[in-house]
Amino acid sequence: MKKVPMRMCVACREMKPKKELIRVVRTPEGEIVADETGRKNGRGAYLCRSEACLNKALKIRALDRALEQPLSEAAVDALRQVIAGGGNEAL
Ligand SMILES: [Zn+2]
Repeated sequence: MKKVPMRMCVACREMKPKKELIRVVRTPEGEIVADETGRKNGRGAYLCRSEACLNKALKIRALDRALEQPLSEAAVDALRQVIAGGGNEAL
């Protein structure tokens, strides 16, 4: 069996297959974006595709810490849309 790459969600700290998580990246330009392709440059953190984990991450500032930068409201909105869209790659 092929080994599935696992990553940890910053909110619930569960290990999950990379594909089930959203990669959140701080780009070299200092923007925080959801990386649907998983190939963007920059510092990354992983989050479940769930509203609950996003809310928890915001509450405990897990993404801010992982990315070493506070999330802007625009970044939070973009993440909510990705989660609500369930894998919409239009971002
Ligand atoms: Zn999670």
